[in-house]
Amino acid sequence: MTTYPMSDEDRAIQQRARTFVDEKLIPWEQHAEANGGEIPADDRATHGRMAKELGLFAMNMPTELGGTGMTMLQQVLVSEQIGRVTNALGWCVHTPPAWAPAVVSDHQMETWIKPTISGEIHECYAITEEGAGSDVDAIAATARRDGDDYVLDGVKMHVTSYNHASYCFFQGKIVGGPSEGAHAMFFVDKDTPGVREVRSPAYSHTYPDSHALVAFEDVRVPAANLIGEEGDGLAFTYEWFRYERLMIAARCCGAAERLIEEATAFAKGRVQFGQPIFSFQAIQHMLADSLTELWAARLMTYRLAENIDAGVDVKLQHAQCSMAKLYASEMANRVADRAVQIFGGRGYMRENVAERFYREVRVDRIWEGTSEVQRNIIADQLGKRGVQPLVG
Ligand SMILES: Cc1cc2nc3c(=O)[nH]c(=O)nc-3n(C[C@H](O)[C@H](O)[C@H](O)COP(=O)(O)OP(=O)(O)OC[C@H]3O[C@@H](n4cnc5c(N)ncnc54)[C@H](O)[C@@H]3O)c2cc1C
Repeated sequence: MTTYPMSDEDRAIQQRARTFVDEKLIPWEQHAEANGGEIPADDRATHGRMAKELGLFAMNMPTELGGTGMTMLQQVLVSEQIGRVTNALGWCVHTPPAWAPAVVSDHQMETWIKPTISGEIHECYAITEEGAGSDVDAIAATARRDGDDYVLDGVKMHVTSYNHASYCFFQGKIVGGPSEGAHAMFFVDKDTPGVREVRSPAYSHTYPDSHALVAFEDVRVPAANLIGEEGDGLAFTYEWFRYERLMIAARCCGAAERLIEEATAFAKGRVQFGQPIFSFQAIQHMLADSLTELWAARLMTYRLAENIDAGVDVKLQHAQCSMAKLYASEMANRVADRAVQIFGGRGYMRENVAERFYREVRVDRIWEGTSEVQRNIIADQLGKRGVQPLVG
């Protein structure tokens, strides 16, 4: 456990999540890897139930809505432990859209958000398109007002968990009227006529969740499905990005910790040239660099979570979330690469944790904004604010 100053409650939450991951989730990794990410439905249901019983499900939601209302530091502590397990087995600890409760209508709260918090239904995000990835503002999807409805059109890419979702957050640009060209976000039930999965490509990781290409063709939804006002869509997306970037940083710290533990144990036991490979300085240095970088990333991530709990300025949060995501994701990729090297040929086998993480943490440098985009955000804030506010 960590020596970072935290309350007894924080430490208890951290320990609860760690025990759950170690005892219930990690034992399923190799089965999941060998079965396209799947484990038996009963066991998956058990994991979901346990996550709820342990108070880890919907940890980011207020207690009055049925969540467990954890502080941001506590959420980071849990996400870090979730990051220690491969194959998305940790996704049973679901965090519904943190930005939503403050902005949705009563109807939307009852229809989509509360059932998501209770785990009855699941959401997915349909924002990225063929021509709009890093440049979210380039989306071609449209939303046209027609009487009491909106008509939505567009083709979305990489829609994560589409196979498990019952509704999508769809982002499109308004066509016609005073808000022409503004971003807007909508709730769209998957069974609405005109919503169609085009295909579900394979990705590097072995996850049970798809990342589908989804077409929205003449999809008619009531105006009551618009979230907030026309023009609010991009702000919701940025808030989602900030939260996810912090949680990615936390999960990357967890992945790195697991990798260092496993690689160290292996290096102490593996004998070549008559001695454990841990005695070779080349191996020691890879582990020493990994440990040092993990500490730096963890301190940064915890501190940022505390800053958010303390309510620091949102622009500062935006830059610091980018710094934490950038550093922790690149750190985890370096650590995974070294771990594969330390395991040697075994590190190239899918039954080996280092091999799985080597593929899995790669996307952490891409999704929720690439490393290059994070650097752009950080540099932009540096130019506007100077050094001290960002790192002081
Ligand atoms: C597994 C996975 C799951 C995903 N899940 C979802 C999801 O659920 N919902 C969703 O909407 N999206 C999702 N995404 C999309 C993800 O957010 C985008 O892939 C990401 O934002 C990058 O966009 P892109 O892939 O189009 O790359 P591009 O934007 O085409 O970038 C290509 C390269 O150009 C670089 N580049 C682009 N612009 C700049 C710049 N200004 N300066 C420097 N370099 C630049 C990038 O860094 C990158 O190296 C997912 C992606 C993946 C891989």
